[in-house]
Amino acid sequence: MTLTDDLRAAVGERHVLSDPELRAPYETDWSGRFHGEAALVVRPGTTDEVAAVLAACRRAGAPVVPQGGNTGLVGGGVPRGGEVVLSLGRLDDVGVPDLATAQVELGAGATLGALQAAARAAGLDAAMDFGARDSATLGGIVACDSGGVRALRHGTARARVAGLEAVLGDGTVVRRMSGLLKDNAGLNLPALLVGSEGTLGVVTRVRWRLAAPPRRRVAVLVALDSLDEVVGLVGRLRTEVPSLEAVELLLPEGIAFTCEYLGVPSPVRDAAAYVLAEAVGAQDPTEELAAVVPDDALLADDTATRERLWRLRETLTEAIAAAGIPHKFDVGVPIARLAEFLERVPPAVEAAAPGSRTFQFGHLGDGNVHVNVLGPEPGDEAADEAVLRLAAEVGGTISAEHGVGVAKARWLHLIRSDAEIAAMRSIKRALDPDGVLNPGVMLPGTASPAASATTHL
Ligand SMILES: Cc1cc2nc3c(=O)[nH]c(=O)nc-3n(C[C@H](O)[C@H](O)[C@H](O)COP(=O)(O)OP(=O)(O)OC[C@H]3O[C@@H](n4cnc5c(N)ncnc54)[C@H](O)[C@@H]3O)c2cc1C
Repeated sequence: MTLTDDLRAAVGERHVLSDPELRAPYETDWSGRFHGEAALVVRPGTTDEVAAVLAACRRAGAPVVPQGGNTGLVGGGVPRGGEVVLSLGRLDDVGVPDLATAQVELGAGATLGALQAAARAAGLDAAMDFGARDSATLGGIVACDSGGVRALRHGTARARVAGLEAVLGDGTVVRRMSGLLKDNAGLNLPALLVGSEGTLGVVTRVRWRLAAPPRRRVAVLVALDSLDEVVGLVGRLRTEVPSLEAVELLLPEGIAFTCEYLGVPSPVRDAAAYVLAEAVGAQDPTEELAAVVPDDALLADDTATRERLWRLRETLTEAIAAAGIPHKFDVGVPIARLAEFLERVPPAVEAAAPGSRTFQFGHLGDGNVHVNVLGPEPGDEAADEAVLRLAAEVGGTISAEHGVGVAKARWLHLIRSDAEIAAMRSIKRALDPDGVLNPGVMLPGTASPAASATTHL
């Protein structure tokens, strides 16, 4: 039996895609920067089928790339050349939220949008949101420990995972779905899988912790004349607005670029920087917010105006992608050195990649800055090197929420010690002894012993 036969036996003939046209959507990432040919794309429909696919690939020594909604931005979910893509899209069932625990069970292929709809229908809140909500899946969100605009209040995926089911690289199915708030019996395997970027196991089911529903939501867009004022405002928002849920940063070039893309006039005066904040409370949080922002801030307490303000922030990513293939860096920096970092990035990028265009924005309250650079060829890593080194130099991290993927694996050593990386390698060897899961992702030099599945077809 060939690998193709084995996989067809595992999931059914029509869920093994070998036709290049059918494979194509699984082979290039959302940004267009990362691309590779898959040997095959396999679409299991149950956990047992996922286990059977992994068993077949291990027998054949064929490397596997798990893929959810393919919205990841660090090249970890698309093939590098010759791997089997294991698409979780068919595991998309969404359970009914349990009101007593405020938790819900979902298949790994369910989207964030589907989770949000289920939570709303039950009078609860998904406690997570970001622009790719209609494609990003729970499996991908858990695998990347995704954050988004509301992590400031609700934490990243790690804080929301109440239970997990996964097929480990060695083929074992591990399941802890009781959803108990307190359960410290032994090592917490689900916690190990959060943020493992498909290198240790394939997430098949998730038990998600929901939040109480938002009652009153108010947003505010503030124009500020210096980056130091931005840092001051973040501090006041954090300490004086208990209902604070999101604090985002926009810079003038980003606002102008988005407004041009949308064909709308800028709603704000010229300034050095803009802060978009949102507060959510059981009571109206307008007064809390108004007390800490300048008089000329734009307050939005109705849905239409709030959505218009948020569109400025969310559309920027889309506008940049429409202008070219961006190099996207998702870094974290200590708030105390945020202004310095924002000022040093443009000259550093210009020196590394002359003539390129740099945008900075992001989840300010978390110190999470997205640096997007348009201009360099996809394979030119000079700007990557400059930005990631700068983030490390100011005491930050090279990855705040998108993950390391293949894009940043060779810079992991900037922020993780040799001892930490060695411990990660030991865990990888223990849970994925044949090295079939996502070779080359996160840990540098983990290319699979069988670099391609093509020879086994
Ligand atoms: C417009 C836009 C806005 C975004 N905004 C944010 C944001 O604000 N915050 C944020 O954190 N991210 C953001 N992202 C990044 C992205 O959406 C997240 O990383 C998302 O969680 C990835 O989910 P996915 O299902 O698309 O995963 P994929 O892209 O398919 O995969 C991502 C990684 O997870 C692994 N993986 C996927 N599914 C599984 C599984 N079931 N088991 C094991 N491993 C798996 C893959 O191998 C890969 O390494 C944004 C992306 C876009 C395009």
